[in-house]
Amino acid sequence: MSQLVDRFGRHIEYLRLSVTDRCDFRCVYCMSENPCFLPQDKVLSLDQLAWIAQAFTELGVHKIRLTGGEPLVRPDCVQLVSRLAQLPGLTELSMTTNGSRLNKLAQPLHQAGLSRLNISLDTLKADKFANLTRNGKLSRVVAGIDAAIAAGFERIKLNAVVLKGQNDDEVLDLVEFCRSRKLNIAFIEEMPLGEIDERKRSRHCSSDEVHDVISARYPLTLSDQRTAGPARYYSMADSPVHIGFISPHSHNFCHECNRVRVTVEGKLLLCLGNENAVDLKAIARAYPGDITRLKQAIIEAMALKPEAHRFDPDGEVQILRFMNVTGG
Ligand code: SAM
Ligand code: SF4
Repeated sequence: MSQLVDRFGRHIEYLRLSVTDRCDFRCVYCMSENPCFLPQDKVLSLDQLAWIAQAFTELGVHKIRLTGGEPLVRPDCVQLVSRLAQLPGLTELSMTTNGSRLNKLAQPLHQAGLSRLNISLDTLKADKFANLTRNGKLSRVVAGIDAAIAAGFERIKLNAVVLKGQNDDEVLDLVEFCRSRKLNIAFIEEMPLGEIDERKRSRHCSSDEVHDVISARYPLTLSDQRTAGPARYYSMADSPVHIGFISPHSHNFCHECNRVRVTVEGKLLLCLGNENAVDLKAIARAYPGDITRLKQAIIEAMALKPEAHRFDPDGEVQILRFMNVTGG
């Protein structure tokens, strides 16, 4: 049982660890076209990332997800995976990636001990993909997904952010893509993180709308599979594929939140929708190797975890961090 318990009795068992704020894509909902990335000296080193992960696992966290930015643009990412995979107490080490480098890296990641992959894919149309990511190549991502399957990853999940008027007409195509490859998929409501310069975030598409489109074709049964995460999963009668909905606007999931995040700057964030943070990098730099002090800071930080987030469905920006900085 985790030693990390907040004021509302929630046990924290899951860490999202951001390994970079950099990315080879510029997804319109995630970052601006010309983002200002952190200088190298502000970013956690491989040793600091491994040390922070060790502290969390010693406190009872048993799941870690590596994210970013795009984790695979970090040159030592496979090395990091093999270090973390050896931490006692860790039952699952996963990664969220845009898939663009999986063609090369899926096999080494699997060998290094990564247990699960989430791969982001919002559209199956090459021109739309290039627009939404501002420069990405769909064929590379699809090749990356196939490489991950070939490498032996099981229960791969796709993540699709649904934007009204952009890709909401592709919901069923994405479901078919997943059915043909036996991949799970989660449809995500866009969250208002960071000030997007080119447009207001007004294209909110609710999970209920997406659910209705799918269930008209494939009746969906609420699954009893629980992830203790924000997604609600459904199954179809004729396929092993699970379909999830992550609905920060329409279904509040805060009461069962079991996670915290550490940004690549070493800030421990207690909630995605809230600015409360504790600077773990400062501790790592001031007291290198003093894991007792680091663990104490993490335990004390639990008092800062808010009861719930609040996002405005009209897209009013409340949090000025971009998702690539926060660690999605
Ligand atoms: N680069 C990796 C990727 O795209 O999978 C990992 C980091 S990315 C920030 C993690 C997830 O956050 C992706 O699935 C992405 O679609 C999602 N995301 C980014 N910005 C978002 C936003 N404003 N609202 C909802 N989801 C968002
Ligand atoms: Fe990069 Fe992922 Fe953000 Fe897209 S969602 S810009 S792939 S970090």
